[in-house]
Amino acid sequence: LAQLFRPLDLLGMVYRTIRQGALDMAAMFDLIDTPASVVDVADAPALAVSAGHVRFENVSFGYDAGRPILRDLELDVPAGSTLAVVGPSGAGKSTLARLLYRFYDLTGGRITVDGQDIAQVRQASLRAAIGIVPQDTVLFNDTIGYNIAYGREGAEMPEVEAAAKGAAIAGFIERQPLGYATRVGERGLKLSGGEKQRVAIARTLLKNPPILILDEATSALDSRTEADILDTLEAIERGRTTIVIAHRLSTVVHADQIVVLEAGRIIEKGTHGELLRREGVYAEMWNRQAQERAGDDDGALAAE
Ligand code: ADP
Ligand code: MG
Repeated sequence: LAQLFRPLDLLGMVYRTIRQGALDMAAMFDLIDTPASVVDVADAPALAVSAGHVRFENVSFGYDAGRPILRDLELDVPAGSTLAVVGPSGAGKSTLARLLYRFYDLTGGRITVDGQDIAQVRQASLRAAIGIVPQDTVLFNDTIGYNIAYGREGAEMPEVEAAAKGAAIAGFIERQPLGYATRVGERGLKLSGGEKQRVAIARTLLKNPPILILDEATSALDSRTEADILDTLEAIERGRTTIVIAHRLSTVVHADQIVVLEAGRIIEKGTHGELLRREGVYAEMWNRQAQERAGDDDGALAAE
């Protein structure tokens, strides 16, 4: 009987790993349906990341033929710099992230990392080079240690602890009676939105990717929790090429360049200061959000 069980257990484990991986990916990209599969070209070499210079050259893309989402998009993200992408919902911001991760192939143009066309390298090597902190992190029904260790296969406990520390969640974990063995998720300890995002940050720190995507990483948090987490995010951006997708502009002020995307096109581009002086769409978004922030503060004061 034991012999019968073993292979089944193993299968179950493999299945679980694959399924959870797929679920995690789906959650990361708000994908409801399975993405069209992209295939490696024959004998594709591994991506060799030297510095992490990302370029979108004339990129065009649509999910469905006849409905373009991105048109002739040009982006140049020098190694180690931060590009922020802002704009209304539906503009194509998350699509940019999905394309860099090569969830889909382009209809025109190319995306390069350190001069290599991402469509010509092994997908696994590309994805190993990119870390993503999504809007809502999905936790597995497992221990908090497992949830962090998931960031990199074969991670050792001291590395998991260091990542938790870097993400400023180590103290919280150590205060739990079971520490890293604390079960989280639906049937375990319920983490707050901010705590879940810190787990995602710890995962990413463990992965230690040269390229980082933050896709509305703080948009599900209230503004106080967000303010709390911003320092941690800025710290992990250091030394990595980063693309920050944000709805709330408070998270993009420090970016080296900001692009405003509307209906798949870049309509403004510059630093925070430049875009404010231009008094265009970005400045208007900024002023509107400043008013909302002031409103929030009044609300918070009234509630206290
Ligand atoms: P943003 O992140 O700026 O809110 P997205 O990149 O998610 O925008 O979406 C851009 C456009 O592409 C939207 O019109 C959206 O409806 C569409 N879209 C997103 N994902 C899919 C998909 N899997 N299939 C078809 N259309 C999609
Ligand atoms: Mg999005």
